[in-house]
Amino acid sequence: MQTQTLIIGAGLSGLSLAAQLEEQDQKYLLVEARDRPGGRILSERFEGASFDMGPAWFWPGQPRIAALIERLGLGWFEQYSAGALSFEDESGRVERGRGFSSMQGSYRMQGGLAALTDALAAQIPQQNLLLSTPVTALTRSATGVTATTRSGQAIHAGKVVLALPPRIASSILFSPNLPRETQAAMTGIATWMAGQAKALAIYDIPFWRTAGLSGDAMSRRGPMVEIHDASPANGGPYALFGFIGLPPQARQDEQRLRQAVQEQLVRLFGPDAEAPKALLLKDWAFDPCTSVVADQQPVYAHPQYGLPQAMANIWGNQLIFSGTEVAPQFGGYLEGALEAAENALIRVVIEKV
Ligand SMILES: Cc1cc2nc3c(=O)[nH]c(=O)nc-3n(C[C@H](O)[C@H](O)[C@H](O)COP(=O)(O)OP(=O)(O)OC[C@H]3O[C@@H](n4cnc5c(N)ncnc54)[C@H](O)[C@@H]3O)c2cc1C
Repeated sequence: MQTQTLIIGAGLSGLSLAAQLEEQDQKYLLVEARDRPGGRILSERFEGASFDMGPAWFWPGQPRIAALIERLGLGWFEQYSAGALSFEDESGRVERGRGFSSMQGSYRMQGGLAALTDALAAQIPQQNLLLSTPVTALTRSATGVTATTRSGQAIHAGKVVLALPPRIASSILFSPNLPRETQAAMTGIATWMAGQAKALAIYDIPFWRTAGLSGDAMSRRGPMVEIHDASPANGGPYALFGFIGLPPQARQDEQRLRQAVQEQLVRLFGPDAEAPKALLLKDWAFDPCTSVVADQQPVYAHPQYGLPQAMANIWGNQLIFSGTEVAPQFGGYLEGALEAAENALIRVVIEKV
């Protein structure tokens, strides 16, 4: 196969770049390792509603995502936050109304964030988006770059955009080898939220709301450390989700984790929480399309992201990095995925080889 620009990774960044190349009538292919687009954006369907198991929020002051949602004609709503907050101490004692910060003022997508990536994917002709197609090797030649996929297919392109976490990209076989400092820069960039896991409990009735609780909770006991309402914009089924605070190595016994999550929900929100209709779990730390072993180490603060010098102008600008981790202003966030795609577009279209 032959194309002008090969984009590797159909997360928000790769999809956004592909949609812009499509609009400009450029030749491109978008290849994705998973059997679905979206990357870290993952909305699970249950009884007609969508529940975000990856990112859930965007925020005021993020111009690209706001403009994209408007352009695609999609709906958004404010995170539910009416009512008292809950706090659980180390012994499991619960207090109400403690003044920690909730996610009040954050925005969520109607239909989950996959509504955004599905709408972008719908703008890309079917023959330009190859799912279940992991790229395993990239080889530079006099005429461009050849990508080899896991099934042995070769795709020749003038330029290649790596729209995936740099740590994940570093497992691709590059020929010739990337400079040592480029490889070190790639493996040194922690993938945002890659070590996280989420639990989400679905109920017919939002019993916490009727009890005057927002669903926001902080816990020093765990296993969930931060909990929020995850219900759809209107109607049910309703849901609470929490970030698991246990380190990845300590949360691999799924049965035990499920049991501990349910017990904690009862401690925090009462006996109505005992029997969720469904309890969904997603552990990103063990998902090889998002995380490497190094991502199992905790990241305590938001890293300083951006494109390191060592990752700029690689292979005479035929190898271009996108993905949220290389966004200078909003790195790590959904907004950063769009920011990085914007910067990659300039390198693809304007800067000549
Ligand atoms: C649990 C969790 C919660 C989060 N919460 C928020 C939030 O509330 N708000 C927010 O702004 N951000 C949040 N984030 C971060 C947000 O998800 C990311 O900023 C964003 O989704 C990154 O998009 P991306 O396109 O840069 O990368 P990705 O979504 O990681 O896309 C990369 C794509 O490349 C594919 N790929 C990997 N290897 C290959 C290969 N060899 N060949 C082909 N394809 C490959 C992957 O399958 C993936 O689809 C959260 C992330 C997680 C995990």
